[in-house]
Amino acid sequence: MSDPTDHFPELTARIAALEAERALTLRLAQTDSLTGLLNRGAFTSALCERLEAEGAGPLSLFVIDVDRLKHLNDTLGHHAGDLMLTEIGARLRADAGRDELMARLGGHEFAVISTVEDVGPRAQRLVDILTRPLSIYGRTVTLEVAVGVASHPADAGDAIDLQRFADLALHRVKLRGGARRWSAFDAELRAQAEQRRTLEADLRRAIAEGEIEPWFQPVINSDDGRIVGVEVLARWRHPARGLLLPGAFVPMAEELDLIGRIDEAVFEAACASAAPWVEEGLIDTLSCNVSPRNLVDPAFARKLMRRLARTDLPPTALVVEITETFLLQDMTLARRHIERLAARGIQVALDDFGTGYSNLRALMNLPIQALKLDLSLIADLGRDTRVSRLVGAMLHAARNLGVNIVAEGVENEAQALFLRAAGCDRMQGYWFARPMPGPEMEVMLRAPAPRQIPTSLAHLRLRRA
Ligand code: C2E
Ligand code: CA
Ligand code: CA
Repeated sequence: MSDPTDHFPELTARIAALEAERALTLRLAQTDSLTGLLNRGAFTSALCERLEAEGAGPLSLFVIDVDRLKHLNDTLGHHAGDLMLTEIGARLRADAGRDELMARLGGHEFAVISTVEDVGPRAQRLVDILTRPLSIYGRTVTLEVAVGVASHPADAGDAIDLQRFADLALHRVKLRGGARRWSAFDAELRAQAEQRRTLEADLRRAIAEGEIEPWFQPVINSDDGRIVGVEVLARWRHPARGLLLPGAFVPMAEELDLIGRIDEAVFEAACASAAPWVEEGLIDTLSCNVSPRNLVDPAFARKLMRRLARTDLPPTALVVEITETFLLQDMTLARRHIERLAARGIQVALDDFGTGYSNLRALMNLPIQALKLDLSLIADLGRDTRVSRLVGAMLHAARNLGVNIVAEGVENEAQALFLRAAGCDRMQGYWFARPMPGPEMEVMLRAPAPRQIPTSLAHLRLRRA
């Protein structure tokens, strides 16, 4: 029997048109509109399909990061960035080998699935084609490219691991810098990945079991050497690895979205310890650090105030330390947080000040009580006369603007003397005291006689009023 549509040419044409339309819609849904490459969703499905296909042979995933795009957007406008992306798409498509799939994963991240056996030359070729100079609005632009590779089945069995491992290889290229712009997953990265996995499981357990504890470092009044406050710093008392500093777990906690729970736990424990110290007049303030990851929450200030209300610490005794870099990243949100906190009497200090190139005058429109001079500046005092002059000028400006300055990382007498002479209000650093557990801090705060510190200068002694 013949196909009934043979007799209805109009119907046949209509069906063909609908099918074409459906195919187009499907293709559009799978395509990144700017570059014409696959988008992330379509790429991930394709990768999974290829890995699950019966008798799937070896294949490699190349992830590509193109730097300078943001810079290009900022200097030449978004249209320039779009032109660049279009050009990257065209170059990748023109270079695609048989069986290869090319995608834009988002932002300035691209990916290629390939069955080439020798990944090195393929990766290098990707670098070469993408770093060829390009002219945009009459300007010659060269992009910075990094490529990470992981292979199936040699490195990983499934799509998730393959992507994770290629990302790790990419990360290593960016971290190392240098001329070679690609890297393949290897034994060194595998060991790192395994260590991270153990650490992750460990960190979740540690938070649940209260192994993250608050340590305290005194903040000294420069005029009389009195302890006027403490800053709480997180420490992880690890059952096997000993005491871990924040550098060993905070970045990972941020990546895993666990930092909120750490900050919360540290905050609550610190408030419990410090509330009686404030109540008895042993200190005026408790300073807490907040991760930028928690600050991006628009409800941050409200949540913090609710948590504070459950403790015995008065709002006026709390100093929230926000880093200068976060402030510069999102001035509008930072201003909202700072104003909300200030309205309740909570103080805000700008941490790591001097690392982010903010404009002192612009800052003065914010209700900020203190700037904490970054320890890298203090370390260079006396070593580099330009830094000494810069710090002197900052202190002078801050005094005129009526904001307090706290110097962090004061490690020797010369630094302390310089800072004091230049009018720095408060200091913190190993020379006065290292961070210590709560009970030790308490002993120091209650000590009847001033603690002996290695200085000939009585006026800089660490003592209570
Ligand atoms: P930060 O807020 O800038 O803290 C000052 C860091 O300098 C602390 O390092 C402190 O131990 C160290 N320090 C103090 N005096 C001196 C000195 O004289 N010389 C030198 N070289 N260093 C000194 P730590 O405890 O390792 O903390 C590192 C960073 O981790 C902190 O930098 C802070 O940004 C972050 N952090 C600490 N605790 C927490 C926390 O509970 N939550 C969050 N989100 N971040 C935290
Ligand atoms: Ca701090
Ligand atoms: Ca700091």
